Amino acid sequence: MKNNKEYLIFRNKNTYEVIIGLEVHAQVTSKSKLFSASSTKFGAEANTQVSLVDAAFPGMLPVINEFCVKQAIKTGIGLKAKINKRSIFDRKNYFYADLPQGYQISQFKHPIVGEGTVTLDTPHGQKEIRIERLHLEQDAGKSIHDMDPQNTLVDLNRSGVALMEIVSKPDLRSPDEVNIFIKKLRSIMRYLGTCDGNMQEGSLRADVNVSVRIKGLEKFGTRCEIKNVNSIKFMQMAINYEANRQVDLIEDGKSVIQETRLFDTKKNETRSMRSKEDAHDYRYFPDPDLLPLDVSDEFIDKIKKEIPELPDEKKKRFIDKFKLTPYEATILVSDNETSKYFEEVIKNSDVKLATNWITGELFAVLNDRNLEISQSPISSINLSKLINLIKDGTISGKIAKTIFELMMDGDKDPKKIVEEKNLKQESDPKALEILIEKVIDDNPEKVKEYKSGKEKLFGFFVGQAMKASNGKANPQLVNSILKKKL
Ligand code: ADP
Ligand code: MG
Repeated sequence: MKNNKEYLIFRNKNTYEVIIGLEVHAQVTSKSKLFSASSTKFGAEANTQVSLVDAAFPGMLPVINEFCVKQAIKTGIGLKAKINKRSIFDRKNYFYADLPQGYQISQFKHPIVGEGTVTLDTPHGQKEIRIERLHLEQDAGKSIHDMDPQNTLVDLNRSGVALMEIVSKPDLRSPDEVNIFIKKLRSIMRYLGTCDGNMQEGSLRADVNVSVRIKGLEKFGTRCEIKNVNSIKFMQMAINYEANRQVDLIEDGKSVIQETRLFDTKKNETRSMRSKEDAHDYRYFPDPDLLPLDVSDEFIDKIKKEIPELPDEKKKRFIDKFKLTPYEATILVSDNETSKYFEEVIKNSDVKLATNWITGELFAVLNDRNLEISQSPISSINLSKLINLIKDGTISGKIAKTIFELMMDGDKDPKKIVEEKNLKQESDPKALEILIEKVIDDNPEKVKEYKSGKEKLFGFFVGQAMKASNGKANPQLVNSILKKKL
């Protein structure tokens, strides 16, 4: 259940609050893997991007990919986090068919990035979500259970691909906040070019930790971890299900057991997978094949210089410089390409109109056709031309919508459409007076009614005049002339 501000669960006389912490796995944007030179390209034929290192042949040695280290540090800076000049790679030991090494190389006690924050813009104001750490690790391969009736097949293309695990503190309180958090994190990484955030391709997924507590209590309840959820929608559904399951347990006088669970997307429920493993179950120890990772101040400073303007700063600039509302600015900076498009449009046209047209008409079309702004059927230059035609009175806002529709067919120049279709707004007072006099002469009954007090009829006359001009009459002029004549 939900009220306006808070996500709470009510049962009997109790009110429960939901506590959520995420462990986000973000695939590093990099041509090659974390410890080998194999390609990371998505969609290749199975087992065609596997080096001897990725397949864990005996005697093979991992070699750290400097670019991936740089990407992790860049992301850390984007999270306003502490960069650790020394970090250590450990072996996390476990057995699985898609993990030929028998261990995953990860960072346990000494991650490359320490504490940071992500600022959320929620409908109820800003909220800071604390980041606990970001560490580098390798991805495992992929077991395929549905290709062969008898056997499980393994594809090692993903084996060894660099991941950043970004761990949040348990600061999230609702499925909506999780939605905003993931989108903000993705936006930051896309601005930085460190993770493409493509959830369909598995570039961004998360383990979702959920617990509940009676509202007002300080102590956290026991949490469950839902593994490897790969869409925001599923994260929200899983949290909703899991929180209610835990509340039911508590209300029945039972207790929540800490465990790892799976979200079944078909049944919309979470299921127990295994009891919670502890760090010592993995027998972590420093990987003897890899030296501690030391980065210099110069290395970090050089990366800092490459950091572009990020969403928070851009938002502030849009508000200060273009006088946008925080809401408008949030929408326009959420995606780097959108902010670029906006800035191109307003280079030569009115900011207010541009904001409205982009967040209104254009977004509607993109949504409708499921397009990114980089695939917009209308270029920024032609949209700015359309806005200028409205601004200088050549066309009305209403006609502009018709023209907008026509522009989509091959990104047509709106000026040409206005000429070809003769859509120029009629702003000549003399011509409009003639037209309006005719409307008045044609409707003597309505004029009588209007004059005897039925003022609502004014709209009728405006409508008739607009119709008589094929929608081209300047509405402001029609209004003022009608007032005079009636
Ligand atoms: P582990 O490494 O064993 O999974 P951590 O203590 O590092 O455990 O926590 C992992 C994640 O669980 C973090 O995102 C953290 O915010 C979250 N978390 C910890 N305690 C709770 C809790 N009581 N309820 C919900 N999430 C929690
Ligand atoms: Mg964990």
